Amino acid sequence: MSKLRLAGKVALITGAASGIGEETAKLFAENGAFVVVADIQDELGQQVVESIGLDKASYHHCDVRNEKQVEDTVNYTLQKHGTLDILFSNAGVIGPISTILDMDLADLDNTLTINVRGVAATIKHVGRAMVNRKIHGSIICTASVSACLGGVGPSAYTASKHAVVGLVRAASSELGAHGIRVNCISPFGVATPLPCNAYNLEASQLEESCTTMANLKGIVLKARHIAETALFFASDESAYISGHNLVVDGGFTVSSHTPI
Ligand code: NAD
Repeated sequence: MSKLRLAGKVALITGAASGIGEETAKLFAENGAFVVVADIQDELGQQVVESIGLDKASYHHCDVRNEKQVEDTVNYTLQKHGTLDILFSNAGVIGPISTILDMDLADLDNTLTINVRGVAATIKHVGRAMVNRKIHGSIICTASVSACLGGVGPSAYTASKHAVVGLVRAASSELGAHGIRVNCISPFGVATPLPCNAYNLEASQLEESCTTMANLKGIVLKARHIAETALFFASDESAYISGHNLVVDGGFTVSSHTPI
């Protein structure tokens, strides 16, 4: 029997009631981890836990805009399991589609509060727990191809995801002394409620459009591909990798989109 890659580990995943977070919660549990599913969509989050199994997952309400709720979620995880080995700081929003010329600055504030302040709060409190308990943990954040390029998504979202990469690099250099790794993943379009609602597209339309733009043909990017990447960062297979932004985009960001 092959050894489970996260056997005995405890993982906290934000934004785990849907999409990439949900798929990652399932994959981590399949690989032996106990998963704390954290989100603001309580009913969906409970359903994710039930589909995983109550012996392998539990739900905790956590709005990442609220630092106290983040701290409470970390304490809940530690009290329930005695440890916290993996953070997948994945909760995010895209906000209204606008350019810099018509941006509502309140939307910018909201996007930064969730996508940047929320990620910072999770790294802060999980990082403290790991340092205090001498846990050589793995912290993984979700950025985006919008962290690598302009013009892929609204400017507020692009700014927020660039900031996630900055936070990851800073946290990686600050927490490395404690044996804690910090990395992020930058996905291209995955047909989840986030981009489909923002762009008013059916899942099949979003997949077709992204597959057309990607360099790699014959494969459609799914939440499972991002979950597999998170599993790599969570597991010992990436034991010496920190501060990295792993782009999962079928070559989109390194390709010229102008035909020669
Ligand atoms: P999704 O809408 O399926 O999931 C996002 C989850 O985050 C939802 O369950 C939502 O309730 C939760 N959330 C939102 N605000 C929250 C808050 N304040 N506190 C706690 N949870 C909150 O979308 P997804 O595509 O799975 O998004 C996950 C991450 O992936 C996001 O950070 C997103 O920016 C990033 N991403 C997605 C894509 C894509 O194409 N789907 C591409 C690049 C990056």
